[in-house]
Amino acid sequence: MSMVLDRPQTLELAPYKSLENDELSQRIAAVRRELGPRLLILGHHYQQDEVISHSDLRGDSYQLSQMAAASSDCRFIAFCGVHFMAETADILANRPDKLAERDGVRVTVVLPDMAAGCSMADMAAIDQVEAAWEDLGEVIDTDDVTPVTYINSAASLKAFCGRHGGIVCTSSNARAVLEWAFQRTSRVLFFPDQHLGRNTALKMGITNDQMPVWNPYEHLGGNTEDDLRRSRVLLWQGHCSVHQMFRAEHVRRFRQLVPEINILVHPECMQEVNDLADVSGSTGKIIQTIDQAPSGSKWAIGTELHLVNRLKHEHPDKEIHFLSPVVCMCATMYRIDLAHLCWSLENLAAGHPVNVIRVDDETARFSLIALERMLQVK
Ligand code: SF4
Repeated sequence: MSMVLDRPQTLELAPYKSLENDELSQRIAAVRRELGPRLLILGHHYQQDEVISHSDLRGDSYQLSQMAAASSDCRFIAFCGVHFMAETADILANRPDKLAERDGVRVTVVLPDMAAGCSMADMAAIDQVEAAWEDLGEVIDTDDVTPVTYINSAASLKAFCGRHGGIVCTSSNARAVLEWAFQRTSRVLFFPDQHLGRNTALKMGITNDQMPVWNPYEHLGGNTEDDLRRSRVLLWQGHCSVHQMFRAEHVRRFRQLVPEINILVHPECMQEVNDLADVSGSTGKIIQTIDQAPSGSKWAIGTELHLVNRLKHEHPDKEIHFLSPVVCMCATMYRIDLAHLCWSLENLAAGHPVNVIRVDDETARFSLIALERMLQVK
């Protein structure tokens, strides 16, 4: 056994904060050698470059969880993303069939900094969603409503969907999921991101007057009974604080400055930004669009800053701009730095995992139902 594995107590975080990145990188590499294929470090596309350079897998939240769950050797996951992503990794990596394959041995999932949350996910709390469901039941038949949660949500919301005939979606399959839902019920309650819900439903021909916004702090979400009876998609009043920063005037400014510019945005951006864009799509689609774009083409991209900078770096033959004049980055994800990663890995290797994300069995069971429904949607 190595010195790392022999450490008897939980290591404190404070000393790591004063270490230089070079030393932290060497120590992270040492733990990786130590644990070999039993450890997977997952890096979300929005993560900063220093952290991404240590990740085994890079992707969006769902891709990462699926890739990790597919590994037969993996026993530890360090998720360099945000809290809901680590929850999804725990649910998928420790689902019953996977546990059976490993004779009941769980994969330990750690989030290097517990403060790495998601402001959008925090905009819909389970008690608010349950209260909304009850309020809705006073006006419309909730048996005729499918709850749909964006994957960017707490496990408790995914479980709510699992219990109520609902489903999870990602930004790449939101339309297919809504179509699935409308085969079952005439209405959808979509949370927590109103913009993804609205932008997707508009493309399906649903109009804004059929999409009331549900404010969880007001009676009937701030709507009249008529609004609710007329509704097709009830949009939770939530948004991504990063993508909400992109504005229609940013698009117009680029079009004036660079006439041949192509505008590429994420569907978490507001409707007016999506309406003006040339291409709107998930993180995966944004990456694919730039990969396939001709050399010399010009792009202004409306998504998280670290991803745009990485695309710029990886495609020097294309002219790539950040759509907003102000910095829009995922500040909570940015909390995961090399100091937190090194600290959590050395504790993991020492047998004292810190910041373990463990979804309780009941919540995991119903979340999995909603996630599996999504997988069956083509
Ligand atoms: S970019 Fe937005 S939705 Fe994604 S993790 Fe950050 S706050 Fe949440």
